[in-house]
Amino acid sequence: MSDNQLRVVWIYPDLLSTYGDQGNVLVVERRARQRGLDVARLDVRSDQPIPTSGDIYLIGGGEDRPQRLAAERLRRDGGLHRAVGNGAIVFSVCAGYQILGHEFINDLGQREAGLGLLDVVSVRGEGERCVGDVLADIDQRLGLPPLTGFENHQGVTHLGPTARPLAKVRLGNGNGTGDGTEGAYNDTVFGTYMHGPVLARNPQIADLLLKLALDVNALPPTDDHWYEALRNERIAAAQAPA
Ligand code: GLN
Repeated sequence: MSDNQLRVVWIYPDLLSTYGDQGNVLVVERRARQRGLDVARLDVRSDQPIPTSGDIYLIGGGEDRPQRLAAERLRRDGGLHRAVGNGAIVFSVCAGYQILGHEFINDLGQREAGLGLLDVVSVRGEGERCVGDVLADIDQRLGLPPLTGFENHQGVTHLGPTARPLAKVRLGNGNGTGDGTEGAYNDTVFGTYMHGPVLARNPQIADLLLKLALDVNALPPTDDHWYEALRNERIAAAQAPA
């Protein structure tokens, strides 16, 4: 962070914002401001260069063709790589998650190179599309409450040795590999299949991104009773007999 200003970069709202992904930017902005931080939000369209001096980068989900276009442009641009090299934090959802990996299957059925910022490879799932509610226990090392969300993807994502699963599903498919893992992360780059404005349902992840960006262990508390009520409702619904 320079000039005491937190720079939040939303990557390619014109291509990767199919599922209300703007919600993630709004939640990060709001929770930073609630802690008295000065926040600059930068929405970067796909015909603009990716700034390399951001603190937190958010990249959302999208349909297969926009996903390929976004991957091509991000590879050509190179800015996100440089930002990660500078220590930036990245949070990605669905198509964005696949793009951050080594490769995925594009809309033409071909292997498309990703950015290699996460040690994951995505393939096209042979089974039914993974659609539905997700309830997942976040990796113990992160020490955060369970995650709730919604998934909608055909891709199946395999983790390599330097990616840790973000969570283990109690309900839903997550990475679709059958081992119960959901999402992936390393020290600064995060990916999840939980759809769209996942941070609006899981502000504990927004706070994790802020703590990493600010290099602090704790943030001043906020009133989270609405989030907690929603989480408890979703957990109870997931546990109710069918
Ligand atoms: N196109 C990708 C898939 O279906 C990602 C979809 C999404 O972003 N929800 O696997």
